[in-house]
Amino acid sequence: MLFLRPVEKTAILKSLKHEINKVKLSQIGGVNMSRVCNICGKGQTSGNNVSHSNRKTRRTFKANVQKVSYVENGKEVNGYVCTRCLKKADRA
Ligand SMILES: [Zn+2]
Repeated sequence: MLFLRPVEKTAILKSLKHEINKVKLSQIGGVNMSRVCNICGKGQTSGNNVSHSNRKTRRTFKANVQKVSYVENGKEVNGYVCTRCLKKADRA
């Protein structure tokens, strides 16, 4: 039987979630794929601008993605990664 420590378990679950998110995002049409994080799938989302008089107009929230080179499956690749994932990489 495969024995995993709790930390490893959550890490695997998180990576699975990321993969699912990536698939979900790719199924949604009309998302600008150049503004999507290659690690976690974070991308553009929408909401309202709300003025002081409470009038609402549609707006988009873009992920803060930076073009960087990173290692994937032992190979160095160039791609877009969000700043949160970059911060995680710094800690590791
Ligand atoms: Zn990310």
